[in-house]
Amino acid sequence: AKKAVLGPLVGAVDQGTSSTRFLVFNSKTAELLSHHQVEIKQEFPREGWVEQDPKEILQSVYECIEKTCEKLGQLNIDISNIKAIGVSNQRETTVVWDKLTGEPLYNAVVWLDLRTQSTVESLSKRIPGNNNFVKSKTGLPLSTYFSAVKLRWLLDNVRKVQKAVEEDRALFGTIDSWLIWSLTGGASGGVHCTDVTNASRTMLFNIHSLEWDKELCEFFEIPMKILPNVRSSSEIYGLMKAGALEGVPISGCLGDQSAALVGQMCFQDGQAKNTYGTGCFLLCNTGRKCVFSEHGLLTTVAYKLGRDKPVYYALEGSVAIAGAVIRWLRDNLGIIKSSEEIEKLAKEVGTSYGCYFVPAFSGLYAPYWEPSARGIICGLTQFTNKCHIAFAALEAVCFQTREILDAMNRDCGIPLSHLQVDGGMTNNKILMQLQADILYIPVVKPSMPETTALGAAMAAGAAEGVGVWSLEPEDLSAVTMERFEPQINAEESEIRYSTWKKAVMKSMGWVT
Ligand code: ADP
Repeated sequence: AKKAVLGPLVGAVDQGTSSTRFLVFNSKTAELLSHHQVEIKQEFPREGWVEQDPKEILQSVYECIEKTCEKLGQLNIDISNIKAIGVSNQRETTVVWDKLTGEPLYNAVVWLDLRTQSTVESLSKRIPGNNNFVKSKTGLPLSTYFSAVKLRWLLDNVRKVQKAVEEDRALFGTIDSWLIWSLTGGASGGVHCTDVTNASRTMLFNIHSLEWDKELCEFFEIPMKILPNVRSSSEIYGLMKAGALEGVPISGCLGDQSAALVGQMCFQDGQAKNTYGTGCFLLCNTGRKCVFSEHGLLTTVAYKLGRDKPVYYALEGSVAIAGAVIRWLRDNLGIIKSSEEIEKLAKEVGTSYGCYFVPAFSGLYAPYWEPSARGIICGLTQFTNKCHIAFAALEAVCFQTREILDAMNRDCGIPLSHLQVDGGMTNNKILMQLQADILYIPVVKPSMPETTALGAAMAAGAAEGVGVWSLEPEDLSAVTMERFEPQINAEESEIRYSTWKKAVMKSMGWVT
């Protein structure tokens, strides 16, 4: 059969905490032509520990690329139209590998992992100067969340890592670095790099100078020779070394939340998006200036779309557990068989009947940053059933977002008029309606929810030397919007929200 003729196409790897995807877009309309997705295992070897296998992650990327290319073939689309590949990834997750063998030296320590709690406590006692030392350079609070302490733990506890560092064989990276190094050739010439957005989540990166910070590396005792080169989010890093897309440039790299900001076209000061995946992350573009929060938000690099382009910053509200609570109801309690089923249960009752679920599985992130919190389900009566708990779990995601939005409005001064959303959970219509009710502003969702991948594809397609994506709104003509308007009254919304806050207070101080 004759192959269909199309404009230039761009692929994107979206390596998330729950799954890996590869998607191919038409760069003239942002139409999603084909994709493939593979769920990723998470290991919980001890309470509070979360690990993933870096090789499984890499394998899943290859599998998604191959399967997507096969599907394109079935659609009669010639894969030689794919002109570039972007990478977006779960952030902070830490990998150390051997540059001579290409083998990881330990599992990936996932962002949610809490094993570094004592490392964080002992480090916080010896912060030089004032308490602002880390935050003023990185925009981040000293927390188990970020890569530096995970890397410190690996250097302290894993003999293979120590030995590889001594013998000059160790490389460190977040998932983007691990993937780009492997995809561009690995032990035979792989490119060891990261982009400014991923670097800004390591707690070793100075977000003002856009370089690894010597003082921070000294404080965390991290050898700088194992760190990747920091590049912009949109430039050619290297070429695919194997597989169906061999020879195609990898030319976009953004942490998943930055990628979603780009994919939602939040390029103006004050534009924001909220992504509902494993966790929930609300980012607001603050333009060319670093804004420091008074209300528990992080300051982070939003993007830098080209070597000579300016850097943009964002304020971020991070919620650790969102979709993960649905996965927990599926895997740990077994009250649903698939994540989608939660909607059916919640719909049956349409209320939590006074039940509140605070899923503080990994402590609480923004705006509290409270590692002592643990999950609670409260307000139970003889009447409560699994449908109420399902509803409470969805409501918890919305309440956590409300807390972030309140903090964001206080820091920015201008309240958001609507909330742009995306991510795996936004397929859930009940969740979207609840969110509009609890925020009391409209929630706006693109018809194509794969905004993270789209952002990475846009960055890759816009790179110098590729030049197939102009980043103008016209190029997103295939994306339409769906709106959810608030339906309950503001008073009812406030009452529910204040009860939620009471429940949050009860979740704190469980671990001492
Ligand atoms: P990530 O990027 O973190 O891997 P995704 O954006 O792929 O996450 O979203 C997956 C998460 O969303 C999972 O935790 C899953 O439980 C949850 N999820 C997926 N579909 C639904 C749904 N219909 N209702 C509620 N939660 C969902």
